[in-house]
Amino acid sequence: MEKKGILFVISAPSGAGKTTLIRRVLERFPKLSYSISHTTRQPRKGEINGKDYFFIDEPGFQLKVEQDQWIEWAKVHGNFYGTSKEFVTQKLMQGDSLVLDIDVQGAKQIMASKLSPVSIFIMPPSIEALRQRLENRGTDSCAVILQRMENAQWEMSQRSAYDHVVVNGDIDKATFELCTIFENEMRSL
Ligand code: 5GP
Repeated sequence: MEKKGILFVISAPSGAGKTTLIRRVLERFPKLSYSISHTTRQPRKGEINGKDYFFIDEPGFQLKVEQDQWIEWAKVHGNFYGTSKEFVTQKLMQGDSLVLDIDVQGAKQIMASKLSPVSIFIMPPSIEALRQRLENRGTDSCAVILQRMENAQWEMSQRSAYDHVVVNGDIDKATFELCTIFENEMRSL
């Protein structure tokens, strides 16, 4: 595939503020598109099918694995998540740039592909801040928070595999750093 747009891959432990940061980047760069993932996870309160995620059942997800329809996929916190190969390749071929919000396992699959992504890892200022944010969010049970905290330790240990690491202590400062990365990369288009 001859790729024309830039593929940005962003990972972060749950609660690091990645969703807010991505939303701010998308507001700043109107030509940038967001890849809506598919997941077998249950929708959280307020989440909309086709906007936040495409919610899919497990047999449906596995069928797409067999049909090689994911550009990457992974099991995260007990649920499956995948990125549509068709959507990503179409966008990039059209010359559009894309942001993928995916976990470390998925990011590594994309990094190993020919898509030459620009990879960014968002770090929380501390583990304690991460726990606090997950608890304050109030969307997950204690067991889910514990699982996410365990996973966070492993994910953070993988950050050196990424091109850029942005620490989200202050949201405005982190937004500025992230936008600078996007601006520099998109200037070359
Ligand atoms: P959440 O359930 O909190 O929305 O997301 C949990 C984790 O799954 C996050 O780390 C998020 O980046 C990751 N994730 C979301 N979509 C995808 C995807 O399409 N592929 C992969 N590999 N991870 C994803």
